[in-house]
Amino acid sequence: MNSARYAVVGNPIAHSKSPAIHAAFARQTGHDLTYERLLAPLDGFRATVDAFRAAGGQGVNVTLPFKLEAFAYAVRRSERATAAGAINALRFDAVGVFGDNTDGAGLVRDLEANLGVDLRGAEVLLLGAGGAARGVMLPLLGAGVGRLIIANRTVERAEQLAARFTHDGRVGASSFDTVPGAFDIVINATSATLGGEVPPLAPSVYAHCVLAYEMMYGQGETPFLRTAREAGSARQADGLGMLVEQAAESFLLWRGVRPDTAPVLRLLRDAA
Ligand code: NDP
Repeated sequence: MNSARYAVVGNPIAHSKSPAIHAAFARQTGHDLTYERLLAPLDGFRATVDAFRAAGGQGVNVTLPFKLEAFAYAVRRSERATAAGAINALRFDAVGVFGDNTDGAGLVRDLEANLGVDLRGAEVLLLGAGGAARGVMLPLLGAGVGRLIIANRTVERAEQLAARFTHDGRVGASSFDTVPGAFDIVINATSATLGGEVPPLAPSVYAHCVLAYEMMYGQGETPFLRTAREAGSARQADGLGMLVEQAAESFLLWRGVRPDTAPVLRLLRDAA
């Protein structure tokens, strides 16, 4: 029998660590599968995924800049994907294409299981209002955080995102320079780090911060993490654990089994 086929679709895609992660999961669980990188032209997401399905592909992960197009591609969606308005995992079933968003579950699992952070009642500041921020809202609220403030460079986008959760009294929106009070956890879901920049927050925001979390990974101590540490944050972490955990959640969606992430995360950290 042929191996089951999976892939990650993006543009660019050459940097993706997902094939190595899924190969390690497959070895660990004894599942016979292949996982490749698919570079889709910027105007060719649908055609690329159609061709992969026609060739027998059973599912894909989706990364920048196609998470919104993946949302439209799915005919059925999980609740957390619907809340996010973005999809990073598609499963091709007999009944059609099912879409999920595993980023938020990946973050929550990294925070709770790998980093040992108690999210219940925690005051959380989420920087950014793009695809990554949207994906983590519902899972953070589901984990029982006490307050969730979204701060974004373009404050209207923070307000729009918060408005999707107006029924939940814990959510608010802010600009960077008017962030209200101090927070237990500050999560950088902006791409400011790409340009060597850091969201301009008052140092008092970090006064009792137990963890500053940079979703981007593999950059060492970024300007955001350094700023947070110097302002009093007790601990700093990057998003490599989130990457591995969202992959495990995708593997569960496709294969019905959750791999053990700890050895795979160790492997990636050692290779870095
Ligand atoms: P988007 O392009 O959708 O959103 C980018 C966000 O960053 C926007 O809120 C934007 O603000 C803000 N931003 C961009 N430049 C700056 C700047 N110079 N200063 C302040 N804010 C800025 O990107 P994503 O949400 O998809 O990704 C965000 C980050 O999360 C990336 O670094 C990505 O690598 C990481 N990520 C990590 C994952 C993991 O598994 N570890 C998974 C998904 C994402 P504005 O609205 O004003 O433009």
